[in-house]
Amino acid sequence: MSDHHRPKIVILGGGLGGTTCAFELRHALGDSAELTLVSDRPRFSFLPSNPWVAVGWRKADEVQIELAPILAHKHITFIAHGAERVEPMLNRMRLKGGDHLDYDFLVIATGPELAFDEIPGLGPEGYTVSICQTDHARAAADAFERFCTDPGPVVIGAVQGASCFGPVYEFLMIVDTELRRRKLRDKVPMTLVTPEPYVGHLGLDGIGDTKSMLESELRERQIKWVTNARIKHVAQGSMAVEEVHPQGYTSLHDLPFGYAMLLPAFRGIPALMGLEGLVNPRGFVLIDEYQRNPAYPNIFGLGVCVAIPPVGKTAVPVGVPKTGFMIESMSTAITQNLRDIINAREPSHRATWNAICLADFGDGGVAFVAQPQIPPRDVNWSAEGRWVHYAKIGFEKYFMRKIRHGQAEPAYERLVLQAMGINKLLPEDPRDTITAA
Ligand SMILES: Cc1cc2nc3c(=O)[nH]c(=O)nc-3n(C[C@H](O)[C@H](O)[C@H](O)COP(=O)(O)OP(=O)(O)OC[C@H]3O[C@@H](n4cnc5c(N)ncnc54)[C@H](O)[C@@H]3O)c2cc1C
Repeated sequence: MSDHHRPKIVILGGGLGGTTCAFELRHALGDSAELTLVSDRPRFSFLPSNPWVAVGWRKADEVQIELAPILAHKHITFIAHGAERVEPMLNRMRLKGGDHLDYDFLVIATGPELAFDEIPGLGPEGYTVSICQTDHARAAADAFERFCTDPGPVVIGAVQGASCFGPVYEFLMIVDTELRRRKLRDKVPMTLVTPEPYVGHLGLDGIGDTKSMLESELRERQIKWVTNARIKHVAQGSMAVEEVHPQGYTSLHDLPFGYAMLLPAFRGIPALMGLEGLVNPRGFVLIDEYQRNPAYPNIFGLGVCVAIPPVGKTAVPVGVPKTGFMIESMSTAITQNLRDIINAREPSHRATWNAICLADFGDGGVAFVAQPQIPPRDVNWSAEGRWVHYAKIGFEKYFMRKIRHGQAEPAYERLVLQAMGINKLLPEDPRDTITAA
């Protein structure tokens, strides 16, 4: 270790996972560790608000926060020009620009690279808009305004291998709500295309009654759907979609559109791709039950960049979503394990990986809790109503405030979750047991 008393911990990625973990580590370790956060952009983006940005309900600036002053206040060094390549054998990374940065421990929280290039014509460089990054959502909002001057069919969905379905349903319903507000909905046939085997599968084989809830929501809003869908290619104003039927045969749909958003598949970032033992063939970070990489035990994986196998087999590949609360639970486990390792104890903390999600539809929404993530579950709950819309606004304001103040986890968040019986860590270890308030 570079300095016995002050181990050097580098957090790679300044998104939801990386910032949360940096603040938690500072809170848990005090000044006993040197913390550096490396991102490839100067601002934190609250991605769950992107669907709102894409229809003009939020300005991009309202969901982004400048990280430098907050990190400085917490004595966390900030490097904002990104990593070019992680060099795990040498315990260092090469930064963009050529400098090297050494670490004793590395927390990788780089989110996904968006694999638009896997389907011809897909993505902002092609013919479909994206809501995966806030800049994309801003461009999607401009495209939506242009579309509203000359409305036509809308196609919204996800491609084969995608793993993030909540925002797809959200965006579909939000666009429907906004078009009705503008009195344009009667001019816009809408279609959902998804690799999911059924509506509401969500990459989790459904949660509670999400299948009937979301199907009936789509019927009420007169939105058609194609499930088991594989996008062949996208061209200006139309896309070729192959539907895989349960009997094994396929049929081809040629879907015209005036506006289309398709969520791409994810893969690991180039700085990690191909690093034997650290990542799987798709570039996702391999981790054990303590969030630690088996080949390089001083490296931890956090958030969307970690490798999680799919829930069961589907006709068209469907990935598992990694949602905000699940990511926070990984961050808590990493923080506590790092504290133990630094204090010469074995890591013992395991994240619960519960999926909790609020999907806002603009005039209502669906909430679900899956605990654990893989069925059968102890908690398998979903509900709908107008309250979800307001809860989501509250969640955005609360989370943005938490980042602005560099808070690890304010006590009341813990209390609310305790009251709901939702824990971030598995209770086997008595130190982790959270008793209901
Ligand atoms: C549109 C959308 C809506 C979502 N809505 C919800 C929701 O409502 N509820 C929910 O629970 N979850 C939601 N999610 C899922 C999940 O919570 C988010 O994707 C979350 O932001 C993931 O956090 P992360 O830290 O893993 O990745 P990110 O937040 O994507 O952060 C990754 C960071 O790494 C940085 N980075 C990338 N490459 C490099 C590099 N080479 N060097 C340095 N830094 C790098 C990126 O710039 C970024 O700052 C949503 C996801 C999307 C895409």
